[in-house]
Amino acid sequence: MLVLVVNCGSSSLKYTLFQGEIERGTGLMEKLGGPVSTFTRLVDGAGKDPLSLAVPNHEQAIRLMMDWLIRDGVIREAREINAVGHRVAHGGPEFTDAALVEARVRNNRIARELAPLHQANYEGIEACVKMMPATPQVAVFDTAFHQTMPPRAYTYALPYRFLTEHKIRKYGFHGTSHKYVAGRGAQLLGRPLRKLNLITLHLGNGSSLTAVRHGRSIDTSMGLTPLAGVVMGSRCGDIDPAIVPYIMERENLDAGQVERLMNQESGILGLSGISNDLREVIKQAKGYNPRARLALEVLAYSIQKYIGAYHAILGGTDALIFTAGIGEKSPKMRKIICAGLAGIGVQLDPAKNRKAVACEMFIHDKNSRIKVAVIPTREDYMIARETKRILKSRQCTKPAVGMYKKKLTNELTHGKLPANKGKPRNAIQI
Ligand code: AMP
Repeated sequence: MLVLVVNCGSSSLKYTLFQGEIERGTGLMEKLGGPVSTFTRLVDGAGKDPLSLAVPNHEQAIRLMMDWLIRDGVIREAREINAVGHRVAHGGPEFTDAALVEARVRNNRIARELAPLHQANYEGIEACVKMMPATPQVAVFDTAFHQTMPPRAYTYALPYRFLTEHKIRKYGFHGTSHKYVAGRGAQLLGRPLRKLNLITLHLGNGSSLTAVRHGRSIDTSMGLTPLAGVVMGSRCGDIDPAIVPYIMERENLDAGQVERLMNQESGILGLSGISNDLREVIKQAKGYNPRARLALEVLAYSIQKYIGAYHAILGGTDALIFTAGIGEKSPKMRKIICAGLAGIGVQLDPAKNRKAVACEMFIHDKNSRIKVAVIPTREDYMIARETKRILKSRQCTKPAVGMYKKKLTNELTHGKLPANKGKPRNAIQI
């Protein structure tokens, strides 16, 4: 079975064509809409010459991707692809699971309003539907895994009508990654997921932690948006909300400017004044740059506090699982984080920690009460897996797939997509 995974960012397209577990073709287009877009790709694991050309939008990017999958001989025609899985950042309150792309997904007004920055996800869906109208498409939401959170975890203490009228609540993100590493962690621990309490740490450019009880997310650090939670590359994470109007007044900033400040000028970058890339900051911290050192300490401290809180609400933790850029590749950061967790029984094995770079490994000492694992995340693979699961599920019986082409064609001809009512905002990634 050939499953194409499509991940459209605000100015990028990432794709992987899976045949079973094998990545037949994968590619990345960046700077879409700019004067020169870049396109790098692998075919059966081998790098191809990069291309530089102007790609005006996601629809053209999807066409280009298909052209090159054919030119490189990965497929002969688009129709060979059995299904397409799309990464969609926000499912809103409605989607507790991945879903077949139908009107319910495409007209999901609330999710679109809550995530105006992620309109590109929907542009990717529309372009693929247009190009492959008979191929089932599945939306895999970053928020879906966290829909198991209880109301006490997802409700903000604002006037209640903000929850009911505007759907303002915690949604959480990186759900596909948290779900994958939790499942994989259980396999590596050799125990059923339903009997485990895990804390998963997705630490990358954007970072979030999740408390996973018996395979279900019961709390997570990101909120209505991916700005909340721990300190990130250029995002501040949790701050006193009263700081926002105070800064606006003091610095004469409007809402968009203060939002940009918190998303793009804060976090590790804002504290260190060096970079949002942790590698640079670690280098300078070794040279005793005091702001670089402070940035690392503030980052680690914010993560430790979430781990402590999640350990308490889980009623004990079987394992911590580190993943994503920092979690997978920075022994230094794992060491600093875990050094503050001796009180709850976390003890790293320094040699194993140093060795674990971008590979699956347990890194705890044999006396550690809580196991610690490094598991590289596989979001694309997980999206392909979720896509296949949805196609086999009751959500998608044979007659439903049979109806697919007709329905989509109707929607394309007659369906009106909702206008994006959200104000254009500063681009942030998840
Ligand atoms: P991701 O968003 O998962 O791709 O993670 C990207 C981030 O991981 C980069 O911005 C870096 O800050 C961080 N990163 C990657 N490799 C390392 C490393 N060896 N040491 C520290 N941080 C790293």
